Amino acid sequence: MNQTTLKESLMITGGVGLHSGQPTRVVFYPAEAGEGVVFHRLDQDVKIPATYQYAKSSPLCTTLQKDGVILQTVEHLLSVCSGMGIDNLLVELESEEVPILDGSGYEFFKRFSEVGLRELAAPKQGILVKKPVLYQKGDIEILATPSANPVFSFAIDFAHQQLGQQEYHFQFTEAKYAEEIVRAKTFCLERDVETLQAKGLIKGGSEENAIILGEDGQFKNMEVLTWLNEPNLHKILDQIGDFYLARNLRILGNVHSHKSGHSSHLEFIRLLMEDRQDAWELVEL
Ligand SMILES: [Zn+2]
Repeated sequence: MNQTTLKESLMITGGVGLHSGQPTRVVFYPAEAGEGVVFHRLDQDVKIPATYQYAKSSPLCTTLQKDGVILQTVEHLLSVCSGMGIDNLLVELESEEVPILDGSGYEFFKRFSEVGLRELAAPKQGILVKKPVLYQKGDIEILATPSANPVFSFAIDFAHQQLGQQEYHFQFTEAKYAEEIVRAKTFCLERDVETLQAKGLIKGGSEENAIILGEDGQFKNMEVLTWLNEPNLHKILDQIGDFYLARNLRILGNVHSHKSGHSSHLEFIRLLMEDRQDAWELVEL
């Protein structure tokens, strides 16, 4: 299998940043083999490769930072790149946030699918898990083990009647990613909304682009849901995006996660890529 990029450039307008609420335009350009996914902040003239070395954790989103310039909320776009198998892409923006759009990866997926992908003359690579790698912090756990097929099993545990404890096993294929994961919207607890707004965050959040888990234990905006377990599916969407910070390579193994989020995903990737190089090998796909 060879690396890919977009066939043609394309632009998405009309989106806003989740935190800033500011209109954000984003332009995607095809890139050469080996370049990976690179963000270009045009207003600062800084290019930031989408890899863990430039990532910093924040509780609500994944942020890249280089030379004092930041770029927030990269995870849904990176998830779509991983899910569709886009290895190389140049992403130009004029502000510090990737637009939230409908809160899922669907708009990126739809537009990328419309222009299509182009194969490049270089082999596609992946990270094949050879030995177990365990990350633990409190009750958060991520365990990667060898597996013939990539699987993401994700367990959540929320003190909310509609969510509670649940687990989803996602057998990763590009077709299943398109069916089961890419349209899963982000979510937020109703009680957190005011706190976040008071901090000047989530100005671009709305009842159209986030599932709101009401104080009464119900979904506050049921009409935006596609599936009842959509928050669980969104956690997998986020994780696939965060994991693509491993040099824009897919992790090929069985990944079992319990209550993990952006911070722990990044810490797991650092552990895997830096301290546990014994546990995996680069393979051509
Ligand atoms: Zn998300």
